[in-house]
Order: sequence, then C-alpha cells, then structure tokens
Amino acid sequence: MMALKLFNTLSRSLEEFVPLDPNAKNVGMYCCGPTIYDFGHIGNFRTFVFSDLLRRYLEFRGFALRHVMNITDVEDKIIARVRQSKMPLRQYVSQYEKAFFEDLDSLGCRRPHFTPRATEHIPEIIRLIEQLIAKGIAYKAPDGSVYFSIDKYQKCGCRYGQLVNLNFEAMRPGERVQSDEYTKDSIADFALWKARVPEDGEVFWPSPFGEGRPGWHIECSAMSMKILGPSFDLHLGGEDLAFPHHEDEIAQSEGAGLQPPGQHFVKYWVHAAHLLVEGKKMSKSLGNFFTLRDLLNKGFSGREIRYLLLKAHYRETFNFTLAGLEEARAALGRLDECLLKLQELAGNTRANPAEKLIRDFTTALDEDLNISAAWGIVFDWVRDTNKQLAAGQLSAAQAAAELEAWRKIDTVFGLGSKTEQEAPSELLALLDQRQAARKAKDFKRADTIRDELKAKGWQIEDTPKGPRLKRL
Ligand code: AMP
Ligand code: ZN
Repeated sequence: MMALKLFNTLSRSLEEFVPLDPNAKNVGMYCCGPTIYDFGHIGNFRTFVFSDLLRRYLEFRGFALRHVMNITDVEDKIIARVRQSKMPLRQYVSQYEKAFFEDLDSLGCRRPHFTPRATEHIPEIIRLIEQLIAKGIAYKAPDGSVYFSIDKYQKCGCRYGQLVNLNFEAMRPGERVQSDEYTKDSIADFALWKARVPEDGEVFWPSPFGEGRPGWHIECSAMSMKILGPSFDLHLGGEDLAFPHHEDEIAQSEGAGLQPPGQHFVKYWVHAAHLLVEGKKMSKSLGNFFTLRDLLNKGFSGREIRYLLLKAHYRETFNFTLAGLEEARAALGRLDECLLKLQELAGNTRANPAEKLIRDFTTALDEDLNISAAWGIVFDWVRDTNKQLAAGQLSAAQAAAELEAWRKIDTVFGLGSKTEQEAPSELLALLDQRQAARKAKDFKRADTIRDELKAKGWQIEDTPKGPRLKRL
C-alpha cells in the first residue's frame, strides 16, 4: 500500500506520514477547538469537519487515534461577553459549549476522545509558566502579568518563526502584547498569565504570580502535552492560527524543553484554508455571516452541509454559497438514488466489498487528502453503476459488493446513506420500547427486542444523541 502524504506547514512541503510510535500504530492528534462565546459559524465548522476527515481517514488506514480538541472557555472575547451578560463565566459559556457539541453531531463529526476545558487546567498552565520562568524565558512585567520573552528564547538556541517566515528587522521585536489575538505584522512578547484587572470581574484564579488568568496560547501547550505527551504527531487548526497562536505554542512547549533530544513539540502541522462566503470574508455587516443553525433553519440538513464543507481540498480557500448548498443537495440526491437501487437489488445478499472503488478512493486521499479527486471517483462510480443497473448487468451479489465498498469509504465521508438514516417507523417504535425496557431494568425484554430488530435486518447503534438503527 502507498503511504499517506500530508502538507506539513513546518517544512512547507508534502511529507509521508510516519507516526512517532515505533510500531506505527498509535497517533496523537490535537486540533485547536472553539472559543465558546457564541454559536460556531460555518467557517469554524469547515475546520472541524476537516479535522474529522483527517481523523476518520487515519482510522480507515488502521491507526489508533487519540484525538484531542480543547475548549477555550476563558479568553478576552469571552470575558467581554460575560461582563455584558452579567452571568457567571461557566453559566455563560456552557450554553455555547452545549450548542457546539450538538452542532458537531449534526455535522456527523466523531466526537474527539478528549475535550479539555482551559479553566479545568489552571494548575497545569501554572506549572508550565513556572518552568518557563525557571528557564529564564518568561518574566513578570511591571503590569503584574507574566510574558514570554522571544529574545531569551532565541538566546537559548531556539527558533521563533518555524511556521512562518518572520522578518525581525522589519517587525521590531521586543514590545509586549497583552491581547490574545494580535496582528500578524508584529513580533512581540506575549502574555502567559494576565494579571487581574477590574474588567475581569469574577474571572480570575490565584497563582504564584498573583491573581489573574491564563493567556490563550499557553492553554493549548499545557493541555496538548498533558494528554498527548511533550512530543506528538499532528496539530491542526485553521490557517489563521499558524501565526501567532501556533508559533507561540511551539515557543512555549519547546522553550520548556520537555521533548526528548532532537524531537519537536509537533511532528506535522496541518492547516485548513479559510472559508469565504459569496466570495468575501464572512462578516455580520456584509450579511454573509452564517452559523450552522442559520443553515439548519433554512431547511438544509447537517448531512448536506457536511457534504458541501467536505467538497473542496482542505488547502483550497472554499467559497460557500447558498446556490452551492442547493447543488450539494442535488448531488447527494443522485448518490442516494443509486445507493437505494443497489440496496433493492442486493436485498439480503452478503458480499465482500468491491475493490476498485476503495482502491481509487485510497489513492486519492493518500495524496494530501485529495477529497475533490475522491468525489470525482465517487460520481464516476455512480454514473457507471447507474448504467449497469439500467442495463440489468449487475447481479445481487455484485450490487451487494458495490454497496459494501461504498459503506467502507463512507466511514471516512461520514455521510451515511438516506436509507440507513430512515428506519421504518414501526421499527423506531420498537427501538423506543427497548429503551423503555432498559430504563425499567427489564433486560430480558430489551434483548428480545434487539433480536427482533436484528432478525429484520437492523442493528442498534449507540451514538452521543442516543441509540439509532443501522442496517446490518
Ligand atoms: P475560534 O472559535 O475563533 O477560536 O476558531 C475555531 C477554529 O475555526 C480555528 O481553527 C479557526 O482557525 C477556524 N476558523 C475561523 N474562521 C474560519 C473561516 N472563515 N474558515 C475556516 N476556518 C475558520
Ligand atoms: Zn490552540
């Protein structure tokens, strides 16, 4: 089998993916998660659907993944909103955290194995800052905050500017920056710990450096290394995060010097390009700003939106339009119709998956997740299959084999087929009865219902949204 290649921002080149694990089995993957001050917009979800795609493909390729996505629940924008809302921090953010996970489910994203919250890792963050202070790389400034010194870091033999080329002459290093997000044209010492100010209200923690709160960059270093170790395989995010956020993560993590000699904090940095809407940057004032919920309210399904977000190569800027979403609906309709016909012909016939579709799909995705090529392959397959079906050239066994092949590659697309989503209502009623039986601890009855469903060709699958029925 060929190897999977990914574009590594660190080397600015396509590289073969070889995990750090000497057995080439276990993979650690971290994706910067949402800042939960509002509902996620579809641009955010392009990045999360992309990380779901990479995760699913690595699992398809047989790797055992540990997928981590942090929840940023303390940060400048959040504090501003908390102040306006007059709610306690946790109460304010939890409504958006809940909405975010519901949105991930609507989009068919596999839940990350770990979703650590920044506010629950204050001791780890403090420890990391202490390590940086002990190394002489972090210092307390007159404003009471603790900053990362880029100058001291470089004097330790480390390199600032691994992910992007920085022009130190033009960018005037040495100034300090407090805010979590800062402009791309300055190199500045950034805040690790922000001293408490009156505007923070009740949002502060005690620390050896005084009361305050962590900066945004340090949380990702502390939580990723806690869960995945000081050196891990993959770090993902939208392209806007490469600088300064990810550069600062490298500086903090490698500055603390916890990696084994010669090893980086992260082996592969993978960045997803931005989503534009109707050719422009999404903004409320332009009226082209969509949350996922806006689109669901317009009657589109999570499945249609997922398909659209998955259409383009991840390194291509993608232009989202409502017309494109209509086209996505039509394309999925063609696919569903073909799958339905295959299903009807296959009936209960079992077969091993047909090889060609899987082989062509794998070749495409191995090449830096070339999903646009993969869709080309799928729609050629739909056209050819339709022709064969119309000409009566497929046997039940061949139809079953093609269907199995689709199911296999759909573990990566994550679309499910329409027929699989919709079990007949009498079976859904049985599923409800089984849930009720389980609640009443009548496991015998629950098992009988399970067997009855099985006999009818349906399997119960537990999902974060509760059990659902899947075709056997
Ligand atoms: P945030 O909640 O702002 O921290 O962003 C969460 C993720 O969404 C980050 O990985 C961002 O890079 C990504 N992101 C933000 N805006 C866009 C966009 N327009 N297109 C694609 N990804 C985006
Ligand atoms: Zn991050």
